[in-house]
Amino acid sequence: MKGLCILGATGSIGVSTLDVAARHPELYKIVALTANGNIDTLYQQCLKYKPRYAVVANKQKGTIFKEQIANSALAGITVLTGSLALEEVASLNEVDSVMAAIVGAAGLLPTLAAAKAGKTVLLANKEALVMSGDIFLQAIADSGAKLLPIDSEHNAIFQCMPAGYETAHQAKEVRRILLTASGGPFRQTPIDQLIKVTPEQAVAHPNWDMGRKISVDSATMMNKGLELIEACLLFSVPSSKIQVVIHPQSVIHSMVDYVDGTILAQMGNPDMRIPIAHAMALPDRFDSGAEPLNIFEVKQLDFEQPDLQRFPCLRLAHQAIDDGGIMPTILNAANEIAVEAFLQEQIRFTDIPVVIEKCMQKFNPEKADNLETILRADESARDRSKEIVQQLKY
Ligand code: NAD
Ligand code: MG
Repeated sequence: MKGLCILGATGSIGVSTLDVAARHPELYKIVALTANGNIDTLYQQCLKYKPRYAVVANKQKGTIFKEQIANSALAGITVLTGSLALEEVASLNEVDSVMAAIVGAAGLLPTLAAAKAGKTVLLANKEALVMSGDIFLQAIADSGAKLLPIDSEHNAIFQCMPAGYETAHQAKEVRRILLTASGGPFRQTPIDQLIKVTPEQAVAHPNWDMGRKISVDSATMMNKGLELIEACLLFSVPSSKIQVVIHPQSVIHSMVDYVDGTILAQMGNPDMRIPIAHAMALPDRFDSGAEPLNIFEVKQLDFEQPDLQRFPCLRLAHQAIDDGGIMPTILNAANEIAVEAFLQEQIRFTDIPVVIEKCMQKFNPEKADNLETILRADESARDRSKEIVQQLKY
C-alpha cells in the first residue's frame, strides 16, 4: 500500500489522479490533498476520499475551510494553510508518491521538497522542472527519489526509451526523439486573424480538456516549447536531437527514432488517466478508466513540420534551452505573466511571444547553479514582464 499526496488535487490532473487512485484502493491510500483557493471542490474531495491532511495554500480561504471541516463529520482531517504546508505534506513519512500537479512556478518548492525527501515524484508540473533544471535533477539524484513523467508526451517517450535510460546518459542508440503536438486550436487559422483571438477561443482545445494556463500554452505552442526543455532535461538529450512533430489527431503521444531505423510510438486515446495510471502502476499495468483506443476508428495519422512563424513561442523555447543558464527560468516566468495578462484581456494573443522575447532580451544566460539564483531570476523576469505588459496594454 502506497501513500499518495496530490499537489493541486482540485485541478484537471488532480481530479484525473483521484479517479485513477480510487480504482485501486488496495494499492493507493490518499494521504494528502492540496488546493490553492477552490475550497468547495476540495471539500467534496475530502468527503469522498477522506485524506489524512488537506492543505489550502491561500490563507484566507484556508481559514474558512478550517472552520467548515471542524464543523463537519470530517473533523478528523488535519487542515493546514499557506504555501509552506504544501512542502510539509509533500515530505511526510507516510507519503510514498507525490503527484506534482500544481500549475506554474507555484509548484516548484513543494515539488522540490518531494524530490529532496526521496519520494516517487509523478511530474505533471512541467514549469517546475523547466525553471529549476539541473538543480531539480540533482535533488532527485541526491535523495534517491524517483522521477516519473506524467506529461503525456514524456510518458510516451519514457515508455519507448531503451530500458535504463536514466543511467545511460545520452543513450547512443537513440537517433532522435519525435515530440508530438496537436498544433492546438489555431493550427490553420490565417496568421493575420490571430490578433483577434479571445481567451475563450484560446482555452477551447480540440483534443484535450485541461486547465486554462496550459490550454493557452497549447494554443501558442509554448506548451511544446516547455515540453522540449522538459524532454532535454528528463532524457539527457540536446535540443538538436528533438524534433517537434505536429500530429493533429493526438493518437500517437510521441516517438523514439533509433539508429537502426526503428521508430517506437506510444498510442492511446487523449486521456491523461493513461499516463497517470502508467506511472502509478509501474512496473505493472492496471486499469486507468480510459476508453481503449479503437484503431479501426483512427482513419488517418498526419504529421507536419511546425511553422515557427505561426508559433514564435517554439522558437523562443529553443533559444532559451540552447542559451542555457537562467534563460529557461526567464522564458517560463515571462510566459506565465503574459498568459495571465492575456486571460485578463490586458494584452492580445499575439502579444504573448512579444512579452517573452522582450523580457528575454533583458537577461544574460547567467549560470543557474543554485536555487537562490533561480528564484531571483524568476522574480525579476516577472517584474520586467509586468512592465512590458503595461506598455502593450490595449
Ligand atoms: P489546473 O489549473 O486545472 O489546476 C491547477 C491546480 O494547481 C489546482 O489544484 C490549483 O488549486 C493549484 N494551484 C494553482 N495555483 C496555486 C498556488 N499558487 N498554490 C498552490 N496551488 C495552486 O491545471 P492542470 O491542467 O491540472 O495542470 C497542472 C499541471 O500539469 C500544469 O503544470 C500543466 O502544465 C501540467 N499538465 C497538465 C495536463 C492536462 O491535461 N491538464 C497535461 C500535461 C501536463
Ligand atoms: Mg503534454
